[in-house]
Amino acid sequence: LSGPRTAPTVIIIGGGLHGCCTALHLARAGAEVTVIERDFPGRHASGANAGGVRTLNRHLAEVPLALAAIEIWRRMEAEVGDSCGYVECGQIRVAESAAELEALVQRAALLRDAGYKHETVIDRDELRQRMPALGPHCVGAIYCAGEGYAEPYRTALTFARAAEHAGVKFRLGLTVEAFERTGHLWRVATGNEELRADTVVNCAGAWGAAVAALVSDYAPLDLQALMMSVTARVEKFVTPVVGAAGRPLSLKQMSNGTVVIGGGFQGIYDAERGALVDFARLAENLRTAAELFPILDDVPIVRCWAGVEGKTPDQIPIIGRSLRNEGLFHIFGFCGHGFALAPVIGKLAAKSILSETEEPLFQPFSLSRFPARDFSLSSTSTIDRG
Ligand SMILES: Cc1cc2nc3c(=O)[nH]c(=O)nc-3n(C[C@H](O)[C@H](O)[C@H](O)COP(=O)(O)OP(=O)(O)OC[C@H]3O[C@@H](n4cnc5c(N)ncnc54)[C@H](O)[C@@H]3O)c2cc1C
Repeated sequence: LSGPRTAPTVIIIGGGLHGCCTALHLARAGAEVTVIERDFPGRHASGANAGGVRTLNRHLAEVPLALAAIEIWRRMEAEVGDSCGYVECGQIRVAESAAELEALVQRAALLRDAGYKHETVIDRDELRQRMPALGPHCVGAIYCAGEGYAEPYRTALTFARAAEHAGVKFRLGLTVEAFERTGHLWRVATGNEELRADTVVNCAGAWGAAVAALVSDYAPLDLQALMMSVTARVEKFVTPVVGAAGRPLSLKQMSNGTVVIGGGFQGIYDAERGALVDFARLAENLRTAAELFPILDDVPIVRCWAGVEGKTPDQIPIIGRSLRNEGLFHIFGFCGHGFALAPVIGKLAAKSILSETEEPLFQPFSLSRFPARDFSLSSTSTIDRG
């Protein structure tokens, strides 16, 4: 005779957007979930990002997830009680030379061959019609109408609140320093306290590899500090989110007229002080923006910052079960484009964890794509702040 089934227990390490999304869906499916967060939800990449929600120019492995994520962004209000500021204004990637345009044409053909139709190549005339303020040297673009941007911090807090409402417990200001499996349970140590659960989900963002290394899972991950800036208000001059094919750039004009500029320019990561702006490189980022849109030439910058993100060698994240630790699932290392994907990854991950089945869309992101490393001879893991 079997007694009543007890709810599965899950500890999530990291209260960024991925931790909160996964927690939300696990709790909605009946799990008892605790999120352990060193700082507070949205403190790191999830609150500091550019808010770009795009399928455009995604790695092929990410395309199905990105398309599924857009469907959720469109009905975000119904999903979590708030739109998260999602605006569907389109995304465009501009070519500044014939060679860049040819590369975009080839990219669109590759996508078509794989069965996708969401990216369209547009010529110089259509580009000019869509963005008259663009510099005259630009020769064409790829464009995707059905996407745009959302508000990062609002999104992070909305998912944290929705998770709390679904019953997730948040333990803020606690750092996971060690965890180990004894029998069927994980014991997770945070300072003086120990918590227990059937399953642990590593959503530690840029520190995901350091957390994985605590239980001898190896993941190659570099920490990068990505920079952002915001201009003073300008008269409306652009509708879609704009990227450049040949150099790092992301640019969007908000409804209040300010322009948010980023695109992957590297700041400085300091283990003690966190992500810092490198003003020389930031100037290069802003020059790119002004070369594409001369209207920005004299517009002052009112704010800039940097956020920490984890980068893998192949520029796609790590998602899936640990290869050597039962009951451990990893979701981290989003290489500067994980904000848009979070709503769908949390949903699929919760299903995969609770049903103990493999999610086919996660297959390309498995840790198995990297060579294993033997941790038995050295302790390489450090949990730093930042
Ligand atoms: C400047 C910038 C711009 C970006 N722009 C975009 C964009 O336009 N579109 C897009 O899709 N993506 C973008 N991204 C990427 C996106 O922000 C990230 O991929 C996403 O937010 C990652 O979420 P996360 O939950 O994995 O990580 P995080 O938000 O970093 O959360 C991880 C959390 O884990 C906690 N943690 C770590 N170690 C421990 C521990 N040992 N114990 C307890 N807690 C721990 C941390 O405190 C942190 O809060 C950008 C990123 C940056 C930095």
